[in-house]
Amino acid sequence: MKEKSLTIESRRNWVKEGMLKSVGDGSDTLFWHNIWVGEMPLKEKYNRLFGISLDKEAVIAKMGNWNQGVWEWTWKWRRNLFAWENELLQELIKELQTISLKQGQQDAWTWKYNQEGKYTVKTTYKHLCQQHTIGSTSGQRIPTKDNLKSRGLKGQDDDKCVLCGVEVESVEHLFFKCEVSWSIWASCYDWWNLKTVGQGKGWIHIEQHTGLVSRGLMKEMWIVIWFATIWSIWLWRNQKIFKDEADSWERVLELIKFRSFYWCKTTLCPDLVQDKWRSKPKEGHKRLQQ
Ligand SMILES: [Zn+2]
Repeated sequence: MKEKSLTIESRRNWVKEGMLKSVGDGSDTLFWHNIWVGEMPLKEKYNRLFGISLDKEAVIAKMGNWNQGVWEWTWKWRRNLFAWENELLQELIKELQTISLKQGQQDAWTWKYNQEGKYTVKTTYKHLCQQHTIGSTSGQRIPTKDNLKSRGLKGQDDDKCVLCGVEVESVEHLFFKCEVSWSIWASCYDWWNLKTVGQGKGWIHIEQHTGLVSRGLMKEMWIVIWFATIWSIWLWRNQKIFKDEADSWERVLELIKFRSFYWCKTTLCPDLVQDKWRSKPKEGHKRLQQ
């Protein structure tokens, strides 16, 4: 049981891990906490330096200055660095040289499973499927019940989906085919006052989803809702398996609204209004009304 929950915990951030900050002027990205250079947050890779930094919560833009068009880092430490810490700092500086900040350009999110660096639902979907179908020793798969079972982990006698309790749980089923998940998707369509032609499966569902909104900022937000819904279904499913109490269906919908609001506000639309977003999302921002 312990091994199982560890596996889940280590994988539960798969959506978050896929989201990378693509840095512009660095004014919206936390230097130590966000993943924006390399594969992990700098606070993890350079844990020792983070420990003595006086700028633990600073955004990148506050970690240096522009000097005649050239960015210069400034470091504030709690004490003088030891020689080996200085070596570590040189390593960090070298890593930072692989990224160039861009004056006057906003930070944006990208999706790392797409080689072009832009998140798309298609690459996310491919990534989900790969996690689900790659050989069982890779350790890269989402631990849905059917592949936990195929890996021989104990306590998985029941491989049924915890949402509906009827079908075998798989990525395809959990996120798209399950009637409970589907009713969540349907509520999102209601929320956006969109009509859908019925329950698409797998990739068809995603194409239908993104096709419902034609273009522009609204479409970008609608795609964020796709991510937020996937992410929320996944967390809900984990709650149901590992916690004594799980959120109600209504609460999950509220969480989707909250999470998508937060993502949209921080990445697409700083002046989005939460109350409006929850009731009439298309009126939550001036630009959306056009
Ligand atoms: Zn189900």
